[in-house]
Amino acid sequence: MKIAILKETAPGEARVAATPETVKKFNALGATIAIEEGAGAAASYPDEAYREAGAEVLPAGRAVSEADIVLGIQAPPAMALAGAKKGAWVAASFDPFRQQELVAEYAKGGFEALAMELMPRITRAQSMDVLSSQSNLAGYKAVLTAANVYGRAFPMMMTAAGTVQAARVFVMGVGVAGLQAIATAKRLGAQVSATDVRSATKEQIQSLGAKPVFVENVAGIEGEGAGGYATEMSEEYQKAQAELVSGHIAKQDIVITTALIPGRAAPRLISDAQVASMKPGSVIFDLAVAQGGNVEGSKPDEVIERHGVKIVGYSNTAGHLAADASALFARNLYNFLNAFWDKDQGRPVLDEEIGDAIRLTRDGAVVHPKLAS
Ligand code: NAD
Repeated sequence: MKIAILKETAPGEARVAATPETVKKFNALGATIAIEEGAGAAASYPDEAYREAGAEVLPAGRAVSEADIVLGIQAPPAMALAGAKKGAWVAASFDPFRQQELVAEYAKGGFEALAMELMPRITRAQSMDVLSSQSNLAGYKAVLTAANVYGRAFPMMMTAAGTVQAARVFVMGVGVAGLQAIATAKRLGAQVSATDVRSATKEQIQSLGAKPVFVENVAGIEGEGAGGYATEMSEEYQKAQAELVSGHIAKQDIVITTALIPGRAAPRLISDAQVASMKPGSVIFDLAVAQGGNVEGSKPDEVIERHGVKIVGYSNTAGHLAADASALFARNLYNFLNAFWDKDQGRPVLDEEIGDAIRLTRDGAVVHPKLAS
């Protein structure tokens, strides 16, 4: 059983899908690991560390040869898999609803594409959940980045020269990233408030010592759909929410937006008029910028200034913490394959619940129910 790890090729992608730690663990299962030269360099894992852990480090294009399984952060183009075994598995993020051409190429190439971001949110799959591991880091990094761009301090400071007021931070969208953003902003000493469409988050916000900002008494308020994800809200709700948050946003120094709806473009939470209502020098970090953005005007990997307000958003926020993000992603991949490892066959065998949820292609066809036509 050969597992290959390729150097990521997407622009700005510094993460790597295996670390020396997971190489050792895969070796212990009886798998051999081949990794492309320099694959971990941008995440501070040098080739030497992989060699010491027991991996074969090979020039670009050679690691994939005869591989049974290829691991990636972002799925490589199908042509990068030339030489892998017929029917080889590729476990990575595929962004499958927006990258249907890539999925079709995998089907054509006869590969089995396993989309890690479609891992069901069930207890036994928590340790395999790349969305959670990466969102958690992204929520933290978003606050640090906003704090860095902000021209004032976060904590209240009483000094001989006078008092510095605590920054007011508002987190919109309280999933994994939002909860970490709240916790990080609190640790930095800010006054933190937060909102979500799922009313279940109210208690979570309070338990972190932040103030919940919620629309009350509007039909269809639950906002929670299958698997604990947000659903698209009624027009009535969206209008009421926009009014409530408008007043609130105008008083904030920092806004962190994290709202996503799986399989759809990110919901628009902040309009240009709402940006204009904020004080000059305020900062907005749009964590959904790569999915179309929660904030009007936000642009991936740019700091733009509108009405004196800086709007920031990275297309790959977790990738800005490449060493930790790689370590967690790599462990998610190991936990996934290890959970299904069949000792007799010396390879993983997926069960239906998880296999059917994440498998995009098999035997030359697109098989995922949300993609197959
Ligand atoms: P996400 O990244 O899909 O979305 C981020 C947040 O934005 C969510 O809380 C969502 O409700 C919110 N949102 C969407 N539209 C909004 C709007 N218009 N206004 C304000 N907020 C809006 O979320 P996530 O971090 O992936 O978490 C989704 C759910 O999955 C949560 O309930 C989380 O606790 C749960 N979860 C479960 C597991 C597990 O059991 N294995 C693991 C991770 C997360």
